[in-house]
Amino acid sequence: MGKIYMTLLKQHARRSDVEELGFCQLNIGQLSRNRFWGEDEINPRRAPLCVSSLLWHGGDLLLADPCLPYEQMDDLLFNRAGRRTKDVTALFLTHPHGDHTVDAMRYDVPLYIAPGAEDDWIDSPLWERLRLYPNELLPGVRSILLPGHTTASAGLAFPWPDRQTGRRSALVAGDAVMTKDFFSAETGYFNSADFAAAAETIKMIKRGFDIVIPGHDLLIPV
Ligand SMILES: [Zn+2]
Repeated sequence: MGKIYMTLLKQHARRSDVEELGFCQLNIGQLSRNRFWGEDEINPRRAPLCVSSLLWHGGDLLLADPCLPYEQMDDLLFNRAGRRTKDVTALFLTHPHGDHTVDAMRYDVPLYIAPGAEDDWIDSPLWERLRLYPNELLPGVRSILLPGHTTASAGLAFPWPDRQTGRRSALVAGDAVMTKDFFSAETGYFNSADFAAAAETIKMIKRGFDIVIPGHDLLIPV
């Protein structure tokens, strides 16, 4: 009896390990200039670095917004998630800015953008490589349009994998949310395509999500 129970327990543990959606914010990111620190918006003070996120389910590994050159991304993936760039099975790109698409061309996997985001990408050198994200490529992971930062910025909505508090709704926001200060102030970055739309998008995110992974900052509990 005990043996059968242990076997069942092991099978269950193995199955739920495979079935659970995984998430890791790989880095924190930084801005070239930050008006909330009293910095002007004309002169960049430092190199920008976006937040990269990793979502996985079984053998599927979805990297959202590569932030570093390919070889350094390999180190970041290994140090933060025990994975390698060669393990990545798909990329999701929130918008075409260079700090969110570093070496994207070098990944020999599908490069996904959100359906409806095509207008943002027509002039991108990546255009020929892009494919539309098929919703639920990973279970429960949906693309969502978040206009304002660019005309058709997008993100990934997913159920937060949290066994303690139950599942909550999370969002990889890209630059629809730059940092916690921009989120609080409900405002876009200096290079926003449409500031009114950027503000509306942040309000929508506040209504709809419990956890936000911004484009250039630590995760934000809403
Ligand atoms: Zn951007």
